[in-house]
Amino acid sequence: MAQEIDLTVKSKFIKIYKEGYPLISKESIVSWDKVREEGSVLNLVDEKGKFILKGYHGVQNKGYGWALSIDKDEKIDRAYFARKIKPAVEYRKDFYNDESTTAFRVFNGEGDGIGGLTIDYFDGFYLLTWYSLGIYEFKSDILEALKNSVKYKGMYQKKRFDSKGKYLDDEDDFICGDKAEAPILVKENGTNFAIYLDDGAMVGVFLDQRDVRKTIRDTYAKGKTVLNTFSYTGAFSVFAALGGSSKTTSVDLAKRSLNKTKEQFLVNKIDVDKQDIIVEDVFNYFKYALKKNLLFDVVVLDPPSFARSKKHTFSASKDYVNLLKEAINITNKGGIIVASTNSANVSMQTFNDFISKAFKELNGKYEVKERFSLPKDFRVLEKFKEGDYLKVVFIKKVE
Ligand code: SAH
Repeated sequence: MAQEIDLTVKSKFIKIYKEGYPLISKESIVSWDKVREEGSVLNLVDEKGKFILKGYHGVQNKGYGWALSIDKDEKIDRAYFARKIKPAVEYRKDFYNDESTTAFRVFNGEGDGIGGLTIDYFDGFYLLTWYSLGIYEFKSDILEALKNSVKYKGMYQKKRFDSKGKYLDDEDDFICGDKAEAPILVKENGTNFAIYLDDGAMVGVFLDQRDVRKTIRDTYAKGKTVLNTFSYTGAFSVFAALGGSSKTTSVDLAKRSLNKTKEQFLVNKIDVDKQDIIVEDVFNYFKYALKKNLLFDVVVLDPPSFARSKKHTFSASKDYVNLLKEAINITNKGGIIVASTNSANVSMQTFNDFISKAFKELNGKYEVKERFSLPKDFRVLEKFKEGDYLKVVFIKKVE
């Protein structure tokens, strides 16, 4: 059992912690000298020694730890983790009962009471992602709590806690139970995805875009040409094709994206030969499309927050306006741009400003048709806006 350590909070930070802010920042604490190990349980106290909250020490790019409890006497043990996991499972009851969707998030970090840990469900398999060595120190109690809270076929894990918060591939991702086929097939609103639980950092789909994919399939794809940029495994293209798109074009720089995208089309019985899958830097593709006078009815922009290719560095907070302008130039009049960002540095307000700036600079006009943020299973805390990272806007190019 990790030892509990009292840490004094600087006076100006006391208020936010009392109000429920869950992230323990390095600078909010008078001295970290007493804390030697990640996974230590911390009792944050004011200058008079009065208890504020209990948390744990775990180093993530975001901070130095997360709040766990406002009860001074609560023990951080197996029973504690079960008290967090059981209601999280209950909260996703509708997902468990929906046979047309068999992949969703069961536990969303601080949104479900424990920052630094997420748990995803893939047709009976559970995938735990540890975002710091600190939370990983609680692995055995968390696993036991999860095993006692759900029926499972097997469990897998991803460790994301090297110095840069990147995926650590030091051992098998398999933990216990049955091994999953590679791939397993899961469903999302009736559409199939091939998922690899033990093949590197990413499993094949980003679950947080579920509602956006459905909207493209059900409302925007029919008879339309769709360009999907930063396409990864082509999830948006698959939904567009199933929604009756006349043709999809998927563009991603990574070589693996070609076979991965073909596979996602195949598991949905879509004729791959009728779709374009292009391995290229999207910024080159925009130039090519402009030169060839290619125009699309729907353009999806879902870049990473930050990416470096041979010729380009893209940062959502600096370069999104330019990205939008590239997209606007190759979108048909009356067409739709689906602009998405998962950058916590870009607020919805800032994102709206980017959109307005891009159209203004091209003397264009637009209309916002829909907006999306995280779906219900990606539960977020009112007091932690940074956790509500996803912003998606469906923009109609009027002129
Ligand atoms: N939109 C995808 C997820 C994108 S993940 C989905 O819905 O599943 C980010 C992807 O961007 C990665 O696959 C990466 O290879 C790709 N990428 C990063 N920089 C790129 C660039 N300059 N051109 C094309 N693809 C890029």
